[in-house]
Amino acid sequence: MPTISKRLDNFTESVIRAMTRLSNRYGAINLSQGFPDFDPPEELLAAAAEAGKNGPHQYAVTWGAPNFRAALAEKQSRFMHVPLDPDAHIVVTCGSTEAMMTAMMTVCNPGEKVIIFSPFYENYGADTILSGANPIYVPLHPPEFSFDRDELRRAFEMRPKALVLCNPSNPSGKVFTYEELTFIGSLALEYDTFVITDEVYEHIVYTPYAHTYIASLPDMFERTLCCSSLSKTYSITGWRLGYVIASPELIDGARKVHDFLTVGAAAPLQEAAVVALRFPDSYYEKLQQDYQTRRDLFLSYLEQAGLSYTTPQGAYYVMIDISTFGWKDDTAFCEWLVKEIGVAAVPGSSFFAEPVKHLVRLHFAKKTETIREAGERLCLLKNKL
Ligand code: GLN
Repeated sequence: MPTISKRLDNFTESVIRAMTRLSNRYGAINLSQGFPDFDPPEELLAAAAEAGKNGPHQYAVTWGAPNFRAALAEKQSRFMHVPLDPDAHIVVTCGSTEAMMTAMMTVCNPGEKVIIFSPFYENYGADTILSGANPIYVPLHPPEFSFDRDELRRAFEMRPKALVLCNPSNPSGKVFTYEELTFIGSLALEYDTFVITDEVYEHIVYTPYAHTYIASLPDMFERTLCCSSLSKTYSITGWRLGYVIASPELIDGARKVHDFLTVGAAAPLQEAAVVALRFPDSYYEKLQQDYQTRRDLFLSYLEQAGLSYTTPQGAYYVMIDISTFGWKDDTAFCEWLVKEIGVAAVPGSSFFAEPVKHLVRLHFAKKTETIREAGERLCLLKNKL
């Protein structure tokens, strides 16, 4: 038999998705893979029902239905403070997963290097390797998840083609400050490097933090491929609607990659999602407040359970430290947690390039009652250990 591609030797299956399968097997509360257990906005569901009945049911324009791109350009221009042309600056993709892969394949030649902050959402490593590029990992040091400016500069001295920036950050909950972004941007300019962002948590930021789009900094729009999606903002992770926003030159390339990867995102769902993209600012304010409430409630249970954690500034994950309970292996802990406590988490080691095994990721994009039930289960930890 011929052998399968050697590319596959360099990354493993997603641990996040494996934890969801384990959670389902044991009927646990799934705080591993980050997705909500509450419904999307009703207007959006009504629009989806309408599109289901009346279409469109055939291919949309490859790089995105015109009305979807028009609504997205209007919304993102408002939040990014960058004027966007729906016909020049956008390619609509199947989730930000495809957006990131498309961005990476648009800019990277085989053998080139890509800077990735560690811990990182596991797709970035696989995206880099599938593009034929090689990752350079720069640590975000726990528990604050700060980076060392000299360490980052040394990575740029290796002449990377691109840097991946997840902001607000999964799994750490870090929100990069304006000053940090200015520093990263200045290195990208000095070393002539692209920045590929993952900004899917752009609207989930906790007071007093604020999200800055690196593409909005001076001279950065031309070298940034801004990837995001509707998944987290409108609680529709299964719709797989994402996009890349970038300069016309980069979008020309990205359209080609995207066309041959997937042809296009689901036409009826693009049609329906126009309704959501036209929501007023009050929608995003409420989303932020609701997540703030969920975060604060969940953190109060972690306190009660005696767990030490890093307070997330954005996104909907929290990293807890299991070393205080004497556990040395995060994977063994997560397997035990599913079976004995009935809560699924993701072992922190699946996010780190470094040998870090004392952290575990939990998420709180859940209904109040789910958070309460999971919190009460976590409070039992003390007695079981
Ligand atoms: N972004 C989510 C997470 O980190 C879900 C990822 C996925 O499985 N597509 O858990």
